[in-house]
Amino acid sequence: MLQILDIKKSFGELHVLRGVDLDVEQGDVVAIIGPSGSGKTTLLRCINFLEKADSGTLIFDNEKFEFDKITKKEIARLRRKTAFVFQNYNLFLNKTALQNVTEGLIVARKMHKAEAVEIGKKALDKVGLSDRYDYYPSQLSGGQQQRVAIARAIATNPEIIFFDEPTSALDPELTGEVLSVMRDLANEGMTMLVVTHEMGFARTVSNKVIFMEDGVIVEQGSSKEFFENPKEERTKAFLRTIQ
Ligand code: ADP
Repeated sequence: MLQILDIKKSFGELHVLRGVDLDVEQGDVVAIIGPSGSGKTTLLRCINFLEKADSGTLIFDNEKFEFDKITKKEIARLRRKTAFVFQNYNLFLNKTALQNVTEGLIVARKMHKAEAVEIGKKALDKVGLSDRYDYYPSQLSGGQQQRVAIARAIATNPEIIFFDEPTSALDPELTGEVLSVMRDLANEGMTMLVVTHEMGFARTVSNKVIFMEDGVIVEQGSSKEFFENPKEERTKAFLRTIQ
């Protein structure tokens, strides 16, 4: 479904992505893990064009694009098939939970309000917020706000959802409810690419793991193989530090 070939990105002299390849198939839940500063977030942001990669190729649904040549129109078209969940939720603070979910459907997708509201309510129901449609972000916990953000992602019916450290801004007692929603999505077959520090999630929910360090993929494979039988010394060292 999604393939990345030799993506590179520098910030000035700092080579953050030094040639990364990635392959995501439909239904995959891919966890991108690795030490802080290894380029995980930059990779995810480049794939969704929130950051401009210097070079590399993207293949999505059998269409091929070069990161340095892609047009705004092509980006807009690709974005319609994807959704992004941010670390800090990125909700409109002056809009209710339901309005946050319907806004993009009405404004960007030109959907009729009644239809958007119906879809929005369904999405909020799905993340366990059927009693919070009319609450503003300030009236919701961090976990609930992130679930609104996930509902907003689901409502656009994406082919893949990108998650950038979705639980790292949350107090530990609130991460469980967000991970549980993500687990449900995974079980329904949603394709997901997740930058995460949650090893429990990587181990039990994702089917593939990518371990990055210093802008390259050190090791990737099935979650089972990765955690039970890591091959690279650097992977083993990393796993020792987190266990
Ligand atoms: P990770 O997600 O693995 O923690 P990041 O992708 O956030 O890593 O960052 C990788 C490196 O790129 C870090 O050294 C970070 O400071 C740097 N970096 C990220 N974004 C920018 C930016 N916009 N400008 C300059 N440096 C950046």
